[in-house]
Amino acid sequence: MNNKDYYKVLGVDRGASDAQIKKAYKKLALQYHPDRNVGDQQAEKVFKEISEAYSIVGDPQKRQEYDNGPQTYVGGHGFSGFTTGFTVNMNSGFDSIFSHFDEIFGGAFGGNANRQTRRSVNPDIDVELNLTFEEAALGCTKASMLQRHIACETCKGSGTRGGATSNCANCGGTGMYVQQQGYLRIKSVCSTCEGSGKIIVDACLNCSGDGIKVETQTVDIKVPAGINHGDCLRVANKGEHVYSDAPAGHLNIHLRVGHSSIFKRKENDIYSTEYVDIATLMLGGELKAQTIHGIKNFKIKPGFQPNSEFRVAEEGIHNADGTKGNHYIVLKLQVPVDLNAEQEEAFKKFADLLKS
Ligand SMILES: [Zn+2]
Ligand SMILES: [Zn+2]
Repeated sequence: MNNKDYYKVLGVDRGASDAQIKKAYKKLALQYHPDRNVGDQQAEKVFKEISEAYSIVGDPQKRQEYDNGPQTYVGGHGFSGFTTGFTVNMNSGFDSIFSHFDEIFGGAFGGNANRQTRRSVNPDIDVELNLTFEEAALGCTKASMLQRHIACETCKGSGTRGGATSNCANCGGTGMYVQQQGYLRIKSVCSTCEGSGKIIVDACLNCSGDGIKVETQTVDIKVPAGINHGDCLRVANKGEHVYSDAPAGHLNIHLRVGHSSIFKRKENDIYSTEYVDIATLMLGGELKAQTIHGIKNFKIKPGFQPNSEFRVAEEGIHNADGTKGNHYIVLKLQVPVDLNAEQEEAFKKFADLLKS
């Protein structure tokens, strides 16, 4: 599935213009539309394929990414590098294989009860957000630029000025054109209205008749402290908004948390390791240690056993719900090497004293 040649699927050259791609899609979509091929599973399969192909190469940005590296396309819908720090996953994309069809033809074609229901749902957008260990532990706010599709505000998605369409004169509004060629009666998609049966009398200038615009929105993503890798945050109504009469879809942010070279985490507790000299362990003293809340000083009691945990209360993760984790520091003994004569003498003397 990853190696599909979307250009081939649409029957165009790799160098085809956006307009040529749109035209090719329109033609094929009309030919293989399930409403026109009831019960024909092969037609449905082809329709799905061309819808998938158009969802990528019909979008200039996704097309460019596809051209640069088709290996990033998981299942034909995923793509990455949408904006810094994000991987956008268009799994939900537009909610059905009909979306681009409806987008182009304004839903004027066919339209059984199911399709009508589908049309009124604005899809969610799924993105991945990469966080550092510290960002996840402490929480953060990420201001991010995200693009979504919205209904053109000028024409409310109709693609026309004042919503005016008229029946296509060439096909009488049926979308199909019948020609007699010798003995044959050939029924084909009307080339004037491209099958919609409608002619836009006066195309909207704001969206060139597409009915849909791309909106760039800045979203402040507030990541609460203590989230985990794999958690999902939902920002309501920041998803697609192509149907202006329905509430916008949601923005689902799938969080990916990196590792730390210093800390490990178990629920709200933090674990780390520090090396301490032998005198501090024996006699007690100061410990300067890195916590997720910064470098802090702690007091070690005399006779602290190496490799055991020094517990620092409430220096772990402070969750929004008021719970606080602890920080456990495993103290390792740093054995001194290259002792000078005086130090060695002192240690020998100390060792003798221990035995006596
Ligand atoms: Zn418009
Ligand atoms: Zn027509």
